[in-house]
Amino acid sequence: MAKLKVTVDPDLCIAAAACMGSAQKFFRMDDDNRAVVVGADGSEAFVQILEVTPAEKAALLEAAGSCPTTAIAVEDVA
Ligand code: SF4
Repeated sequence: MAKLKVTVDPDLCIAAAACMGSAQKFFRMDDDNRAVVVGADGSEAFVQILEVTPAEKAALLEAAGSCPTTAIAVEDVA
């Protein structure tokens, strides 16, 4: 398992929803039509620390790469 800090910058998000196509489990749109990160407990926030499998990490990195405004950051947490 990898521990990642996943962030969405709400000022950059344009609701293109590409992130949900890549990692549907981890992104949702909020009431203001911005992507939020879904935590293990189902909570929604612009920043989450997630424990993920290698496949899930790959999906999150793909989501970050597919975001047209680079609103998503994925960082390893020591
Ligand atoms: S892909 Fe980027 S712009 Fe589109 S909803 Fe996700 S975070 Fe927002």
